[in-house]
Amino acid sequence: MDYLLIALILIMAIVVVVLIAKSISLHKFKCKHCSNEFNIKWPKIIITEHSGSEYKLVCPFCKIKDWCTEQPKT
Ligand SMILES: [Zn+2]
Repeated sequence: MDYLLIALILIMAIVVVVLIAKSISLHKFKCKHCSNEFNIKWPKIIITEHSGSEYKLVCPFCKIKDWCTEQPKT
């Protein structure tokens, strides 16, 4: 019974993380080098190093890996 509860909590934690990542993936990220905005896939958000609204991403336009700013949803 205890194991079932732990498994349930773990599954719920994973679901929450995925939902947060999916909601962030609806936002665009702005590259500081070329000012282009781009979207990234949600699994990438989970594994990406970030600090507040800054995400360390490789820009698909200029291929530079640097901190990109999460843009507010329009
Ligand atoms: Zn760029």
